[in-house]
Formats: sequence, structure tokens, C-alpha cells
Amino acid sequence: MSDNMNAFQNAVAQFDEAAKILGLSENQINLIKEPQKITISKIPIRRDNGDVGIFTGIRVQHSTARGPAKGGIRFHPNVSLDEVKALAFWMTFKCAVANIPMGGGKGGVIVDPKSLSPHELESLSRRYVLEFSDVIGPDRDIPAPDVNTNAQIMAWMMDTFSLNKGDYLPAMITGKPIELGGSLGRKEATSRGVFIGVMKMAEYLGWNLSEKTAAVQGFGNVGSYAALFLHEAGVTIKGIADISGAYVTDSEQGLNVPEMMAWVADHGTLQGYTAEGVTMPDDPMSVLEMNVDILVPAALENQITTRNADAIKAQLIAEGANGPITPNADHLLYERGVHIIPDILCNSGGVTVSYLEWVQNRMGYYWTEKRVNEEMTEIMSGAIREVLRVSEERKISLRMAAFVVAIQRVLKASEIRGMYL
Ligand code: NAD
Repeated sequence: MSDNMNAFQNAVAQFDEAAKILGLSENQINLIKEPQKITISKIPIRRDNGDVGIFTGIRVQHSTARGPAKGGIRFHPNVSLDEVKALAFWMTFKCAVANIPMGGGKGGVIVDPKSLSPHELESLSRRYVLEFSDVIGPDRDIPAPDVNTNAQIMAWMMDTFSLNKGDYLPAMITGKPIELGGSLGRKEATSRGVFIGVMKMAEYLGWNLSEKTAAVQGFGNVGSYAALFLHEAGVTIKGIADISGAYVTDSEQGLNVPEMMAWVADHGTLQGYTAEGVTMPDDPMSVLEMNVDILVPAALENQITTRNADAIKAQLIAEGANGPITPNADHLLYERGVHIIPDILCNSGGVTVSYLEWVQNRMGYYWTEKRVNEEMTEIMSGAIREVLRVSEERKISLRMAAFVVAIQRVLKASEIRGMYL
């Protein structure tokens, strides 16, 4: 197996390995591996200069066996059917391992959004929903933001869908502005999930978190809040890296995470950040190899490969990013006894709060941030408990256990529903 596969190819390789552990038949694999429905549509818009612009829009529903499909919409020139299919596949197993009653979907438009005026962007967003209004909906398939789409775009999409159906339907999409039924707690949700994973594993390993040290790669939405939650729990943060480099310290109190977050809020990245006792190693990748107990890769895929796996010293790795460890490196680390909370479990806090947004929209009753965090903690804790149980019972890694749990749930739902002849 190559070390240069993309995150999705890694996930498929891991799915295949788990299917082997479960001894699935070819028929069973085909039933749950292939996407259920693919819709491709022409998206015409009127450009500001009066011309007609034509774009290609895609929506893939990988599985609705366990509930309506769920997954973001991406606006990017490199969007392709293969990519959207891959991301929809991934969503099915992410939702299943978290045990939220939803399947997997994903959408995209092949477009460079920087080439559009604000008015053209709004037209494209509204027309996308119109073209796919027969396949999406609160009980069918619920989109969300992804690369280059945001809360404003979700608001336009919800408005278009609601006006066309004649009802107010906020539950047709998540990631909306709070004023239109978005959920409190969404911004920190993925990192909170990462933190819950670390906490539960610390309990399992008999660790006192306030005696532990950590390093975090990536200091954006996921990495910064993950570092903050660990810091607040008393973990000493010894190293943080972002696109500008790595920032490390030997001091007992560790890095000042709130100060570093404030720096990024003002400057965009950590570029230029200095503090007493903080140094910058020549190789920013060395943050992964620091002598710490906990490592949180929260930047990019394929960061831990066969080249550096042997140099990793952390005993617990929490995958904030998707696919940061290649399958070959994963095997090496597992053989050395390193505990890895796998991406499909570790970073599922985001989709879990999206589900809670949908729940609140359907009730028409909105929770406090405290209630949202409690509900999501309950869901994530349950998922981690179940994955740990299966990992112990079958003597397999947490990653294989997460896939085994997810595959069994999707397969069971598909088989119980049976064939409608
Ligand atoms: P982001 O763009 O907010 O942050 C990315 C961070 O990585 C930035 O700090 C950037 O400087 C840093 N970075 C980029 N290249 C780097 C390099 N070579 N070395 C070190 N740092 C580097 O993105 P995000 O939303 O925090 O997402 C991070 C990862 O988590 C991605 O893999 C994403 O797919 C995954 N993820 C995000 C969410 C979510 O809710 N945001 C949910 C699930 C998974």
C-alpha cells in the first residue's frame, strides 16, 4: 500500500480491512459501499454583465439506510463526481459511528467562487437548491457548509427552498446563522468532540490529564479550540504548529494558548508570535515528534507516514484532521501500542452538532449552549464507549473498531429494511 494515498483512499482501505474482519460477503459489501443516488444538474445563472454562466452541480446520496443523508456542499474548481462520491461515502460511516440517525451525502459545484460577484454567488447558491429541490429536504437529505460555503450561503439556500415549498423549512439545511435556526456551540463542536475523545481515553488509561503534555499540529478552527480545551483541563501544551512554523517550549506551564489564539485573531496566523521561553525549530514537522503524551494532528492529511512513524513519542493520538496518518504508519503505531482515536470518531463532533441543529429546527425549540454541549457530550461519549468495547472484545485497533461498529450499523439497517420489490 502506498504512503501517498489521499484521505479518502485511506478511508476506503480501512473500510476494506474492517469488512474483512467482519467476514462480509461480496453482496453485503456491494449493498453498503456503492452510492445510492447520484444527481448531476446544469446550474445556469445570469452574470452581472448580462451573459449566462453555466456550472455543473452534483449531489450524491451515499446511503439513507439509517436516516436522511447528511453532508456539506463544496464550491471549488476541483470538485469532481469521484470526490463528491468519496466524501458522501465517508459521511455515511461518520454518522453511523457517532450513532446519529442519518446517512451520508455530499454536494458540490465545479466553480471558482473567487470568479463570482456577491450577486452571482447568491444566484448560484439559490439555483443549486432549486435544481436539487426534489432530492434534498428535511427528511431526505440535509446539506451543510463545506469548502468555500458558509452560513450566509446556507441562509440563501434555506430561503429559496422554503419559498418554493411554501413552508418555513429551516431543517432542510444546517450550519445556518443563529438568527435563522443555527445552533449555539457549532464553532467549537469539532474540537469539543476531540477533547471528549481525549478525556474518555485518559479515563480508560487511568491518566490524570493535569499531569500530561501535548502537541498540536494546525491552529485553525479545530486545532486552536482543541488546544484551548486541553489547556483548560490542565494539560501542558508543549508545541503548536501552523502554516507559519512550529512554536515550542520547555517551560513547565507550557504555551499560553489563549494568548496565541488572540494573536491569530489579530494576524490571521501565528506568524510573528513570540513569548519568553518559546522557540521555533527549523523543521515545523518536528512538532509531531515531540516528547509529549498526547498528539493532536489537526491540519492536513498524510502527516504521519512510514517516514516519521517510528519517531512519534506520544502514547495517544487524537485525529482532529481527516486522514492525518497513512494506513501503513497506522499499523506501525498500533504494533507499538500507541492509542489512536480515529478521525471518523474523533472529529465527528461537528456533524453531531449539525444533527442537533436539525433536531432543534424540527422542535422549533432552541437550547442553550450548555444543553447543546451536554447533548453532544452524551452522544460522543456513547460512541467512544462502544468503539472501546468492540476494540477490546475483538482485540483490534480503535480505528478498525470504529469501522466495524459503523459498518455493522449501516448493514443491519439495510438488511432489516430489505428489498422493496
Ligand atoms: P482551518 O483552515 O481552520 O485550519 C487549518 C490549520 O492548519 C491552520 O492553522 C493552518 O495554518 C494549519 N496548517 C496548514 N498547513 C500546515 C502545515 N503544513 N503544517 C502545520 N500547520 C498547517 O481548518 P480546520 O477547520 O481547523 O480543519 C482542520 C482539519 O480538520 C482538516 O483536515 C479538516 O478536514 C478537518 N475537519 C474539520 C472539521 C470542522 O468542523 N472544521 C470537521 C471535521 C474535520
